[in-house]
Amino acid sequence: MMNLSELNQQIIACRRCTRLVSHRERVAREKRRAYREETYWGRPVPSCGDPAARVLLVGLAPGGHGSNRTGRMFTGDGSAEFLTPALFRAGFANQPTSVHAADGLRLDDLYITAVVHCAPPGNRPLPQEIIRCHPYFLAHLANMPRMQVIVALGQIAFQGVVHALRAQGHDLPAPMPRFAHGGETSVSGLTLLASYHPSRQNTQTGRLTSAMLDAVFQRARQLLG
Ligand code: SF4
Repeated sequence: MMNLSELNQQIIACRRCTRLVSHRERVAREKRRAYREETYWGRPVPSCGDPAARVLLVGLAPGGHGSNRTGRMFTGDGSAEFLTPALFRAGFANQPTSVHAADGLRLDDLYITAVVHCAPPGNRPLPQEIIRCHPYFLAHLANMPRMQVIVALGQIAFQGVVHALRAQGHDLPAPMPRFAHGGETSVSGLTLLASYHPSRQNTQTGRLTSAMLDAVFQRARQLLG
């Protein structure tokens, strides 16, 4: 079995997507005014969390000034501000904040990855970039034998997970259910749960509320038994 930290080292060194390499490095050089004194990470963001986790949380891609700055998934931006308290309330995190990589956050029984590990322009990876990053997602799954529940955040992450699992020969229902918040699908002994992404665009408009996100993590807990 591959060591997850070796897998993450491979991810950090990856330069397969030239468009994303140039974008993540340019954002890291130019910075946002509020963070101009900081050194941005500017590389692929590795997955993080509890290596023995039974829940895999799958985001879309690093935010340019969020994890592309801090170097840790869902750290230091609006999505982290909304997601981390929900993880804390559900007992998957030891604290309700995720602001920088050395802030003491510990995840319990949960591991975080994304369908794309590099910050994309406009937060929109291209389909071929998602496909290029699939092997990393699948390698995580293959090396986490206790995994029981996958929570996909947002439609693109959901579809990315479905495509990766299908490409790997996993048994998926046909036709595949459409993405819907709270949707639930059984896949080769795993349960795939879908949630709206906790981006500001969704949380500030009320499309995703704390109660809606809590319900997804409560369901994950229920499935773990
Ligand atoms: S998105 Fe994935 S495949 Fe593309 S450069 Fe980043 S880590 Fe590599």
